[in-house]
Amino acid sequence: MIEVGCLEAAGACTFCGEKRPVYFRRYSGERLCAQCFCSSMVDRVRRTISKYDLLRYDDRILVAVSGGKDSLSLLKILSLIERDFPHARLYAVTIDEGIEGYRSEAMKAAESFSSSLGIPFKSFSFKELFGFGLSEAVESGAAEKVGVQPCTICGVLRRKALVIAARRLGATVIATAHTLDDVVQTYLLNLLKGEGNIKPVGLRREEGGAVPRVAPFRLTPQREVALYAYLQGIPFQTITCPYTHTSMRDRVRSFLNWYSANRPEALFSFLNNFERLITRAGYGGEQVCELCGEPSSRRICRACELEQRIRDALRA
Ligand code: SF4
Ligand code: ZN
Repeated sequence: MIEVGCLEAAGACTFCGEKRPVYFRRYSGERLCAQCFCSSMVDRVRRTISKYDLLRYDDRILVAVSGGKDSLSLLKILSLIERDFPHARLYAVTIDEGIEGYRSEAMKAAESFSSSLGIPFKSFSFKELFGFGLSEAVESGAAEKVGVQPCTICGVLRRKALVIAARRLGATVIATAHTLDDVVQTYLLNLLKGEGNIKPVGLRREEGGAVPRVAPFRLTPQREVALYAYLQGIPFQTITCPYTHTSMRDRVRSFLNWYSANRPEALFSFLNNFERLITRAGYGGEQVCELCGEPSSRRICRACELEQRIRDALRA
């Protein structure tokens, strides 16, 4: 028996009333068999898209695939939903950050899974877009000179790389596999960093001509995405990034896992209450970055500034 989320009793699946449950959804009290669990995942993504108006019937959707279980599960679920929208198009895009010994397995998994679903696949690299890879920036000491952690460079420049990819492919929206856990972690990290202008994460925002980024898993807990990938037999990358241990997100993740262990609804409550607060408070508008022309809250966006500083440090 697969036990993700403490299966408390035998008995039949709450949905079909027939098959043996493999998952107990603690926050709703439902017990689900494998088939009903997988259908419920697709239904929830549909409901999330509709609730927040994340995607339109004729979108050209760039799905950011890292080769991990979350992004490949998202690709699979969106490919199922897309069948009902003949004018929509999906593209799978992987960003190769240039992390030695890490990305090649993921790229292979992403490319072969995309092709098995009949979805066009394209990869872009930091090296080609910015002139350096992440390992190069870290191992040369440039990241340390600039005073940034590998995950900061990775996150900020991956975001920029996805926007460049979307512009080149003519995509109208970027879909990422950020789960409920990821969104809550991001809000908490923003609070801890003392950010004054916290914006909604994973909701469709197109101010200033931005390519919107949406997160169709924003109401789906991480553990359910992992179970979906397992039940669907999705082949995902198994190697861990060598820089994971350096990330503050990792510590916030551990805290939230501990906090929500006996409070199954904690992440949902945080998301709802926090988003109510930031909507009520309002958040600042965007100007346009003088270097890349993308919307930014600063004269030079963070990505352009970081890219330039790393390049200068590499040259010094
Ligand atoms: Fe990038 Fe950090 Fe994730 Fe590694 S752990 S892929 S460096 S964000
Ligand atoms: Zn910029």
